[in-house]
This record gives sequence, structure tokens and C-alpha cells, in this order.
Amino acid sequence: MQVAKSISESGQFFSFEFFPPKDKATWPVFMEKAQRLTDLNPLFASVTYGAGGTSHENSLEVCSAIKKDMGVNILAHLTCAGASENSIDDFVGQLSQIGVTDILALGGDGLAESNVKSRFFHAVDLVEYVDEKFSEVGIGVAGYPGGHPDCPSIVRDIKFHNDKLAGGADFTITQLFFDNRQFFDYTQRVAALGVERPVIPGVLPIQSLASLRRIMSLCGAAIPGDLYCGVEKAFKDGGDAAVMDFGFEFARKQIAGLLDGGAPGVHIYTLNRAAMCEKLIATLKADGYFN
Ligand code: FAD
Repeated sequence: MQVAKSISESGQFFSFEFFPPKDKATWPVFMEKAQRLTDLNPLFASVTYGAGGTSHENSLEVCSAIKKDMGVNILAHLTCAGASENSIDDFVGQLSQIGVTDILALGGDGLAESNVKSRFFHAVDLVEYVDEKFSEVGIGVAGYPGGHPDCPSIVRDIKFHNDKLAGGADFTITQLFFDNRQFFDYTQRVAALGVERPVIPGVLPIQSLASLRRIMSLCGAAIPGDLYCGVEKAFKDGGDAAVMDFGFEFARKQIAGLLDGGAPGVHIYTLNRAAMCEKLIATLKADGYFN
């Protein structure tokens, strides 16, 4: 079933993002973590594409393993980086063979200058192409509650986002953020432009100071000063274990606040780690969410 349809038929849900590890030697550990997380019964799992230099073949292999062996619906990321009509047709065709009917259409990290001349430069180009050529494929897009770092104005960024929805996208998954007010403000601004589709907040549970620093430097999102100081203090006082406790409590409250405020569900950036997400889902269920 397409992701958009499953969202419309579901109550408030959770879903997970995985990234295919570059080093194949680590795949058995990755698959064990993915199995543990898919056992929690997420509405869908998304698999990144090309991020951090991983190959498209690895993305397909992970999509296939999660779909076929773990029985979870897949949202396969696809980017404009290096894309041509042939490469897109090929990727979508291979997804179809393994029963995957949804893509997350993205600009892509590290878009090369050569892409400027390509017909696929912005995510909207992918959206329009896939929507026209593969009507059976569901399409998600990325949204940025804090504005995309390359866009000089949030108003312009939301207008470009609206073009993706008008071009055929069925739903949005947001970049990570830590202040829920940003998310609710963003959903109102997006809806005000007239094309209403589900907006799923992307949530990053903070699992270590090192991974937080790495991700923030890569994605360009902002972190409130008091939150960052809190993470640093936890690390100083009690090392990684204290950061995990701090991050767990923050994510639990953030997700509860999003669901209480009416978000359709949450998409959790797992960083391919299982323990924190397992604990979050169990605790939130005990608190009455996701039931
Ligand atoms: P776009 O929608 O093309 O937007 C990129 C920038 O261009 C924005 O500043 C926008 O305002 C501007 N823009 C858009 N349209 C126009 C236009 N017509 N004219 C002028 N400016 C315009 N990267 C990966 O490589 N692989 C992944 O798997 C991956 N997964 C992601 C998942 C999520 C949920 C998110 C939020 C991001 C992900 N990324 C991934 C990162 C993403 O590729 C980058 O953030 C990229 O810089 C922008 O992608 P986009 O789809 O928002 O692009």
C-alpha cells in the first residue's frame, strides 16, 4: 500500500529512517538492528540514497531486505545528484520489482555543478517527472521548518516547497528540529499556500554528543542554545550514558508534544541504532500514544 494511503488510514504513527552502511562488513550488525526496529511495527521505513557516499546498489539491497525479509513498507529516497531519465527509470523499475511503490524525491547532498545543466536539479524536477511517468508511485518530499540552509528566505523556501506539492508530491517529511513551535508554524505556512498534504515531523533522538555535532554540521539545522548546553553538561557530568538519558527524555517530550499538537505521526532518525528507539516507542506506548 502506498505510504500516503497508509497514513490516511492510520492513527498517529511512527516510522524509521535507516541509512545503508558503507562498510559491508558491518551489515550483519546493521541488519540485526533493523530487524529489532522493524519488529516494533513502524508504519514504514525510509532508506537513504547516496547520502554520505553510499551506493545506490546498497540502498536497493537494504530496501529489499527490509521489505521482503522484515515485511515493512518502504519509502526509498531518490536524489537529483547524477540523475538522468534512464537512471531514474532504472531505479524505480528495480524498486517495483521488490514491491516498493514510494520514493522520497530529494535534491540530494553535494549536488554537483554539472547538475545545473541537467533536467534534474531541484527536487521538484524529480517530483514532476516521476508523477507523470509512474502514476502508481507515491511521492514524498523534504521540508525544512527552520528553512533550507541554502535558501535566503523562509518565505521563498516554502513557496518552492509548495511547488513540489503542486507538482505531485503526496506528503512531506521534515528535516530534524528541536523546537516544536517551528514545526507547527511551518505546517500552517505550508497549508496557507493552498496545497494541503500530511507533513510528518522528522525527529532526531540525541544519542551522543559526537553524533549530534556531526549531524548538525552536515544538515545545517539549528539547535537551541540551552539544549546544546544541556547536552554538553550531561556529557561533562556523566559521559555518553548521561547524554543518552538526557536525549531520551528530550525526545520523549518532543514526540509527545508533536502528537498532542496534532502531527499525523513522527519519522524517527534512528542513526541505525536500536536501543534508544525501542525505549522511546515502549515508553510512549505506555503513556498512551501509538495505540
Ligand atoms: P530542493 O527542494 O531542490 O531544495 C533545495 C534548495 O533549493 C532549497 O534552498 C530550496 O529553497 C531551493 N529551491 C527549490 N526549488 C527551487 C527553484 N525552482 N529555484 C531556486 N531555488 C529552488 N540527501 C541525500 O543525498 N540522500 C538522502 O537520502 C537524503 N535524505 C533526506 C531526507 C530528509 C527527510 C531530508 C529533510 C533531507 C534529506 N537529504 C538527503 C538532504 C537533502 O538532499 C538536502 O537537504 C538537499 O540540500 C535539499 O534537498 P531538497 O529535496 O529539499 O531539495
